[in-house]
Amino acid sequence: MLLLLQLKFFLKILLSSFCSLPSFIRGLPRLFSSLPRIHILLIASLCAFVLIVSLIPTEIIIDKPIKRELILPASDSLKGKYAIAQPLTAIRESSAKLFPDFSGNREVEITIAAGDTLSGIFSKEGLSAAVLQELQEADTEYLRLGNLFPGQKVQLLINPKNQLLSLKIIVDRAHTLSFTLKDGAYVPHLEVKEGEWRNNYYQGSVIGSFYVSAKKAGLSVGQIQQISGALQDKINFNRELRAGDSFQVLVAKKYIDGVYSFDSEVLATIIKTRSATYTAFLHEDGRYYDKNGKGLSKAYRRYPINGKHYVTSRFNPRRLHPVTKRISPHNGTDFRAKVGTRVYSVGDGVVTSAYYHPAAGNYIVIKHGRKYTSRFLHLSKILVRKGQRVEMGQLIGRSGNTGRSTGPHLHYEFHVYNKPVDPMKVNLPLSQEVSKKEKAAFNKRRDLFLREMGEIK
Ligand SMILES: [Zn+2]
Repeated sequence: MLLLLQLKFFLKILLSSFCSLPSFIRGLPRLFSSLPRIHILLIASLCAFVLIVSLIPTEIIIDKPIKRELILPASDSLKGKYAIAQPLTAIRESSAKLFPDFSGNREVEITIAAGDTLSGIFSKEGLSAAVLQELQEADTEYLRLGNLFPGQKVQLLINPKNQLLSLKIIVDRAHTLSFTLKDGAYVPHLEVKEGEWRNNYYQGSVIGSFYVSAKKAGLSVGQIQQISGALQDKINFNRELRAGDSFQVLVAKKYIDGVYSFDSEVLATIIKTRSATYTAFLHEDGRYYDKNGKGLSKAYRRYPINGKHYVTSRFNPRRLHPVTKRISPHNGTDFRAKVGTRVYSVGDGVVTSAYYHPAAGNYIVIKHGRKYTSRFLHLSKILVRKGQRVEMGQLIGRSGNTGRSTGPHLHYEFHVYNKPVDPMKVNLPLSQEVSKKEKAAFNKRRDLFLREMGEIK
C-alpha cells in the first residue's frame, strides 16, 4: 500500500516535470529523496548494469554468421532448362572464349559413352567424312583424335551451312584439344594445364619382400618398378634385401586443380642394407645416376632400328605439303624399313600411348622422364601397352605402313619438353656419366633431394 502511494507521488512529479524541462531537472533531487533507500539502490545498480552492457564491444555479439536461405521461385519452365545446363556450366564458361556467339551457329556438346566414335558423331550431325579426315591429318602433331574414352566431352560448333567451325575435345583434366577453321584449314591447339608437382617422402624397412614393404609404405606399383628398374644392376631385389634393411624414397606427384593426376616420378631412392648403401637420383634427362653421377640407367641410343639407316625424309619444321602447298611440318625422321622391321625403345621410359590413329596408324609414345618423349608411327605391330615400363633397347613394335602412309617406313620422333626436335641432331645423353657441363646442376638437384629426405642438413 505504501509502495502504491509512493508510485502515485512519483508519477505525479514525473507528469508535472513534463511541463517544462527546467522544472523536471529541479524536481529530480526531490524525486530521489522521496524514494526509499532500497529503490535508490535498485535504480543505481540498474543504471550501472545498462552502462556496462552498452560498453561491451558489439563484435562479440554479432560475431556469429548470419544464415539466409535463398529460395528461388519454382517455375517449371526454368526447372527443365537449368537442370540440363547445370553440370556443363564449367565447360560453357571455358568454351565461351573459343566459341564466339555467331548468330545461327549451333553448338553441340556430347559426353562420350562406351562405343562412341568420332565418325559416328560426325554422321549423326551431318558432317562429312572428308572433314573428319582433314582433322585427323591435322592431329598428327598431338595424336588425340584416334581414340575417344568414356567421359570425355566433345563440343562442335557448326554454322547454318553445316560447316564445322570448331571441334573441341576435353581429353582429360589436364588436356583440351581444339581445331579451329582458319582460312580453310583446321588449326590444332592443345591446351595443357601444367598443374603443380609436389614432392612426397616415403620410408620403411623391409619385412618380407621389397615389393610388399614398399607397397605398405604407400608406393604405387609403377613407382616400385621405377625404383627396381633404376637399381636392378646394383641390387638383386629378391635375394639381397633382408628383413631390417631400410629404404627412403622421394616421389614427385603432379596435381591438377589440387587433384592427384596419377602422373608421378621417383626422384630419389636410398636403400640401406647391412653391408652397403645404394642411391639413385633422377636427373633432368630422365635417367638415374648414383650419388657420384655414375649412370644407373642405360644411355640413350640414337636409332630405333638396327642395321644400316636410310633416311628417306628428314625432320623439317617448314616442309610444304605436296598437295595443299601449306606449311605442314615433318616432325620426325623417316627411315626406310620393310614391314616387320624390329623397332626398339631409344631409352628407359614408360609407354604413355599405344593405339591406332587414322592418320598415324599404329603408334607408340614413350615418355623418358619429364624432359624427353619418343614416338613411333605407322607400325604394323604394337608389342607394348599403355603404362608399361620399357628399357633402352627393348623391342616395342614392328615397322609397317599403317594409317596414311606413302609406303613401308618408320616415322620416328623425339620431343624435348613436348616440342618435336630433329632426332638425328638432338643432344642426347649418350654416355654413362653425367657430363662435366651438367655436373654442377646434377649435384645441386641431388643435394636438394637429400635435404628433403633428411639425409643432409
Ligand atoms: Zn614421317
